[in-house]
Amino acid sequence: MKIFMSLGLVLVTGLAALAHSAPAALERVAVSGADYVRLEDWARANRFQVKSTRQELRISNNEWSISFAPDSRRVVINDISISLSAPISFRNGSAFIPQVDVSTVLQPLLAPSRNNPGKKITTVCIDPGHGGKDPGKCEGRQQEKNYTLLLAKELSAQLTKAGLKVYLTRTGDEFVDLPARPDRARAKRADLFISLHFNSMDGSPGGAAIKGTQIFCMTPARTSSTNARGEGGNSGAYPGNRTDSKNILLAYQMQKTLLKNLGVDDRGVCRARYAVLRSAEMPAILIEGGFMSNKAEARKIYDPAYRRQMAQAIAEGVLSYKRIVE
Ligand SMILES: [Zn+2]
Repeated sequence: MKIFMSLGLVLVTGLAALAHSAPAALERVAVSGADYVRLEDWARANRFQVKSTRQELRISNNEWSISFAPDSRRVVINDISISLSAPISFRNGSAFIPQVDVSTVLQPLLAPSRNNPGKKITTVCIDPGHGGKDPGKCEGRQQEKNYTLLLAKELSAQLTKAGLKVYLTRTGDEFVDLPARPDRARAKRADLFISLHFNSMDGSPGGAAIKGTQIFCMTPARTSSTNARGEGGNSGAYPGNRTDSKNILLAYQMQKTLLKNLGVDDRGVCRARYAVLRSAEMPAILIEGGFMSNKAEARKIYDPAYRRQMAQAIAEGVLSYKRIVE
């Protein structure tokens, strides 16, 4: 908040085409050159009730409860946390949200756009993370690459059973370059790309307690990733940004299904310009399915029965996304 206060705000009025409502005049402000919208105006134009306390601004209706916190990039939408491009900005008792988050988070989730008529989801490309000379995260003798492949095979069986065509970017312990993975998905005309990973906080203080699932999707153009370290200045548009709205919808539906079916901790829907997400030409997500550095969660990851459950949950996430967009 302090950062924004010192920046000086320019008030502008603009027209915004809103989900399910006639275009309404919303107060806009420019913060640091970025376009912000007054959150209360947006909420009222979309028939949400607004409740605000010192700790929280909550907008809600019969279907949705959306909670924003000051100085935080985190928004919680029906109990699932999502990382915004920047914290909401408070000014004279009003909250302002980046317009880019209205168009790439709120609208795609609250009023999802459908696929063109007849455009069905028939083929899913599953990408088991790492492989060959790249073991991924390691805990003792356990290597991430083995468990991503086992999960991928289980998921492949589940999706096939559900009537979908499935393609894997690798079927054995082989090294596949990162850019080759979305390339293979495109060559197979896949409708969705799902990269599978497991995480580790090895060596970081307090890391052993961290557990839960996290879903990454492509960072919208000219915004910063959830963990922007090492991202450099190259934040322009990539092929993966053509499906921004579908990416977040798939990520959200996936996290919702994983939390409901597996009872895991919510590590949130996050943004990253990972190589496999940057060049994917179809809706794409990367699932971090749990932490090998957490003893209890590691035991589950290494257990075939749990991986089957996780594969079932991921397949259900795919199907619920499919139902929405079709
Ligand atoms: Zn990984």
